[in-house]
Amino acid sequence: MPEEKIAMVGTPCQAIAATKINKYSDKTGGSPITVKIGLFCTENFSYAYLKEFLAENNIDMNEVKEFRIDKGQFKAKLIYGDEFSTPIIKTRPFTRKNCNICTDFTANNSDISVGSVGSEEGWSTVIVRNETGKKIIDDCIENGYLKSKPLSEKGLKLLTRLSNKKIKDNSKIVEERESVGRQVLSQRVIDDEEFEKEADLCQFNNLEADVISVGGCVLCGACEYVCPEDIVEINDRKPQKYGKCREDCHACYYACPRTYLSDTVVPLDMDEKPLGNYIDIMSVTAEAIEGQDGGAVTSILVYLLENKLVDEVFLVGQDEDQAWKPKSFVTGRIQDVVAASGTKYSTVPVGFKALKNRKLNK
Ligand SMILES: Cc1cc2nc3c(=O)[nH]c(=O)nc-3n(C[C@H](O)[C@H](O)[C@H](O)COP(=O)(O)OP(=O)(O)OC[C@H]3O[C@@H](n4cnc5c(N)ncnc54)[C@H](O)[C@@H]3O)c2cc1C
Ligand code: SF4
Ligand code: SF4
Ligand code: SF4
Repeated sequence: MPEEKIAMVGTPCQAIAATKINKYSDKTGGSPITVKIGLFCTENFSYAYLKEFLAENNIDMNEVKEFRIDKGQFKAKLIYGDEFSTPIIKTRPFTRKNCNICTDFTANNSDISVGSVGSEEGWSTVIVRNETGKKIIDDCIENGYLKSKPLSEKGLKLLTRLSNKKIKDNSKIVEERESVGRQVLSQRVIDDEEFEKEADLCQFNNLEADVISVGGCVLCGACEYVCPEDIVEINDRKPQKYGKCREDCHACYYACPRTYLSDTVVPLDMDEKPLGNYIDIMSVTAEAIEGQDGGAVTSILVYLLENKLVDEVFLVGQDEDQAWKPKSFVTGRIQDVVAASGTKYSTVPVGFKALKNRKLNK
């Protein structure tokens, strides 16, 4: 049977998890992810608190047509045409605390990174990171899936400034956390040999001590996905182990984006390169798609599926029963991909769950 291919979309932390799962596939079992589309990300919110905050402002999640963060304002456009807008500072109480120790703004670990910063309304900023990404973007442009133009100098400056700001602000918080508590391992970049030496000594109890119990977990679900014994389960709050670890298994520690990152996952010179390594950067829009910004992500996924470059895509839609509650799923249907466009501004509980279920159902 030919090897399966899946494209994923996710926040920078989810892209790191996917990178580690495949990079250390001999320890984790790997994944079918062959294309990673990463989203720019300043911070993420807790769904429950976001819902509560809106309710305090007399807004029901069911009435929201679109969320948007723009020029320092958190906005909810309502289906009746009104707009709720509040300074982003007011959302601080329900920002996920583990986002404060994250310094990756532009999803360095992806093939293609996409966001709004730097481009005008209706356009997306695209960072092409490698040859895989370049081939996809070139083909999308050539075949009418995307229209492109150069990113303006002003746009590039703004993007660089915001990326630098996230690195600077959150590095300070990391320092503060470390001065009163444990090390923030994902900020300790070591080499692969050192990482493997360390990870080969670690199992779920170490993941619990080093990441989960110190408020570092991003709820990505990678630990649950890779566990060969199927003993890790994540409710909305945190991963837990129900059973005995397989002797000599360290898969969850290898896969987690919040344990050490090796210098082949995050290059050591990132401080001098706030946008990470890339080979091209531009503004794009997909005229046929109504997306969060330029509809770039949806259009790229449609291109990959229509041209059979991947079998399925792994992305984030909304829960059927709770408006705007993000839910990950895997699909090969274009209509599902189009329906999942738009940003859900809260953490996807157990992002890799859908991929796990797919693996179990095979
Ligand atoms: C939590 C979060 C914070 C962000 N912060 C910034 C920011 O500070 N600056 C910036 O420029 N851009 C930010 N973005 C990215 C931006 O909101 C758009 O997603 C991006 O510009 C792509 O737009 P598009 O029109 O190409 O995407 P679309 O074609 O609309 O597709 C959007 C894709 O995003 C995926 N998605 C939606 N919600 C989530 C989620 N919660 N987690 C993972 N994937 C999801 C869906 O699978 C969908 O395929 C953020 C995105 C998220 C999810
Ligand atoms: S940890 Fe938070 S800020 Fe960092 S990429 Fe993940 S969701 Fe975004
Ligand atoms: S068996 Fe234990 S160490 Fe291995 S992935 Fe599962 S929880 Fe982690
Ligand atoms: S502990 Fe599990 S869910 Fe949490 S960040 Fe690590 S891999 Fe993701």
